[in-house]
Amino acid sequence: MTLRLDHFIGGTWSAPAGGEYFPSTNPATLETLYEAARGTEEDVRRAVAAAKEAFGSPLWRDLTATKRGHLLRRLGDLIGEHADELAELETLDNGKLLREMRGQLASLPEYLYYYAGLADKVQGSQIPTNSITMLNYTQREPLGVVGAITPWNSPLTLTTSKLAPALAAGNTVVIKPSEYTSRTILRVAELASEAGIPDGVVNVVTGFGQEAGAALVSHRDLAKISFTGSTQTGARIAAETASRFIGSTLELGGKSPNIVFEDADVSNAAMGVIAGIFAAAGQTCIAGSRVFAHRSVYDELVERVAERAASIIIGDPRLATTELGPLAFGAQLEKVSSYVDIGVSEGATVRTGGKRPDIELPGYFFAPTVLTGVDNSMRVVREEIFGPVAAIMPFDSEDEVVGLANDTEYGLAAGIWTQNLARAHRMARRLEAGTVWVNTYRAMSPMSPRQGFKNSGVGIEHGLESMHEYTRLKSVWINTDEGPVSDPFVLRS
Ligand code: NAD
Repeated sequence: MTLRLDHFIGGTWSAPAGGEYFPSTNPATLETLYEAARGTEEDVRRAVAAAKEAFGSPLWRDLTATKRGHLLRRLGDLIGEHADELAELETLDNGKLLREMRGQLASLPEYLYYYAGLADKVQGSQIPTNSITMLNYTQREPLGVVGAITPWNSPLTLTTSKLAPALAAGNTVVIKPSEYTSRTILRVAELASEAGIPDGVVNVVTGFGQEAGAALVSHRDLAKISFTGSTQTGARIAAETASRFIGSTLELGGKSPNIVFEDADVSNAAMGVIAGIFAAAGQTCIAGSRVFAHRSVYDELVERVAERAASIIIGDPRLATTELGPLAFGAQLEKVSSYVDIGVSEGATVRTGGKRPDIELPGYFFAPTVLTGVDNSMRVVREEIFGPVAAIMPFDSEDEVVGLANDTEYGLAAGIWTQNLARAHRMARRLEAGTVWVNTYRAMSPMSPRQGFKNSGVGIEHGLESMHEYTRLKSVWINTDEGPVSDPFVLRS
């Protein structure tokens, strides 16, 4: 009998109003893992009502910021205590390597601890105005009910990046996880309850984007949407939230450049290129999918990357020896595979990969792929593939590579490999990307703010800045002059 998971609403399991469930599949073995509740408008209505009630309840509203911090710390502890279980569940659901998930789980409590610490440090200020008798100060307030919509590629980390600052600031939350990965998010909601976070503060409605997701975005009682996913869906959400004058934080797609200069340690740079595009089977928003190598090191870099790519161990993501697991679902495999065909039809050469690897598991596997003979005009270089496909291109000068790297609709991240300190800083300034890494790739921390430039997003996640995204600023004026008002027609300031 297949496990059935309901929504988590108001601190309890809630069967779907429409009575329907949908399957979630292990992408490595194609076995059905569980069935999740198929959320409808009615389920979203219930969840938002629960979140709204919790927001107004003295159990949450009257809690001091320090006490909210204590609850977040407790949730962080519980996530730490259940790290193995959560890592395994997410690996089963989306095919990420178990050892990568263990690494993510080792740092996930830090997200909760960091925002727990910030909860009582987000403050307003006293403003000197033109009048000595006027006291003017600002205070930061929570927004209300926040909708969090997240993708399947890193559900735990990406959802916690929203949940922790939203709760620390005093909001309540309704989460709509990806239809491919409901499991770990439901478990986190359950742990939030166990941590003592009041009922209705954290709610999860599972289901499809067009149904549960769209219903959440259009719900009138929402104060904000925090979304991570594709640029296409982000554009829809931005239009909807703008028409209602509510805020949104949007973390969207990318086509990030990873640039290797002639003075780089080419061996390390090759490892950085591998990490950038083949970790998580390339299913990361920050994937370094466009690799630019200086012409003098181009052949060596292509050789090293292609050789290592061809030797990557593909298989069961739970095994410690596996280096590349499956893509997360069938449509993703078709998409990646069709992009390689498009590349070839545009004139690209497949140096290695480009097809399903020859392995016994029946899942959605695709071999690490290196394309050469490509340029910035091709679709494989312009569009986000979201799979293990690197396009490697030569360049001759710093000015040229800045132009090539910035010639994209996206601006999420960029990597630079050089031993030249001045060049590193110069490039960091010139690249149009929200995150720039020098001699490393994929480094991330809850303390470090990140933002997508251009079509890669709006708003900031992580860091102190992210707390501000979940508050609104109020300006309060107190007249300390108790004398008579002399002229009511003149503004006082
Ligand atoms: P997606 O946009 O298809 O779905 C993301 C979420 O939105 C899912 O929960 C989905 O159900 C929901 N959704 C879909 N249509 C919706 C609608 N009309 N209204 C409301 N919700 C809707 O993206 P995906 O395929 O799940 O994720 C991959 C994308 O996410 C890639 O483009 C990747 O670059 C991006 N991503 C960005 C970041 C970042 O931090 N910038 C991080 C991870 C992933």
